Amino acid sequence: MKSVAVEVLRYRPETEAEPSFDVFDVPYEDNWMILDAINHIKDQVDGTLSYRWACRMGVCGSCGMMVNGKPVLTCATYVEDVLPGPVRVEPLRGFPVVRDLVTDIQDFMVKLQRVKPWIIREEEKPLAEGEYLQTPEELEDYKQYSMCINCMLCYAACPIYELDPEFIGPAAIALAQRYNLDSRDQGREERMDVLSQHDGMWGCTFVGDCSVVCPKKVDPAGAIQRYKLDATVDWFQSVLMPWRKR
Ligand code: SF4
Repeated sequence: MKSVAVEVLRYRPETEAEPSFDVFDVPYEDNWMILDAINHIKDQVDGTLSYRWACRMGVCGSCGMMVNGKPVLTCATYVEDVLPGPVRVEPLRGFPVVRDLVTDIQDFMVKLQRVKPWIIREEEKPLAEGEYLQTPEELEDYKQYSMCINCMLCYAACPIYELDPEFIGPAAIALAQRYNLDSRDQGREERMDVLSQHDGMWGCTFVGDCSVVCPKKVDPAGAIQRYKLDATVDWFQSVLMPWRKR
């Protein structure tokens, strides 16, 4: 088997004041992902290594880490694609580290809830009247944004979030758009109230790295720019046609 040096950031707060790197010589096969290499370290070398993973097929969004300085899903990144070594594995940038490769995601969870990522109705129709039907075209309008798996790679890639942790961030805005564009939803104004604040969409300077790293092609940068356009149109309408509600 071939082998590669893997440098893993370790931080055990009960014994260490600062994080440091441990280097492991990891044998690998052609089809191994970075997650396979980390699992090898955990299973065969050091069982104390801490990290998150679950589905192993790019769906759960829990195995995001920095690999050679880039945010990736480790279950979807081949070892072969990051050679030659050493391969450096670190926790997602921009989030506090709890232990080793495990980050504290509470900030993201709070921000996500602020944009109310669920269908809001002014008034629910009675169940007897059936479902809220939707055409394929209406589905297509928001489908791209519904692919988000909350992996937070876009936050780790976002220079604004790194500089200003108050910024609500790419995925939260993309998910707000996912519901705004859903023909069954009526919560657009509530979300606009949140995203128009100083820590909302206007903080984005359209660097675009969030869309580059997104493993599900959600395009949060595009969602943010579309949201800005909507907000601008709203503002002009409120000035020129105050009687008209969008
Ligand atoms: S927008 Fe993309 S990168 Fe960001 S959390 Fe969703 S899936 Fe991950």
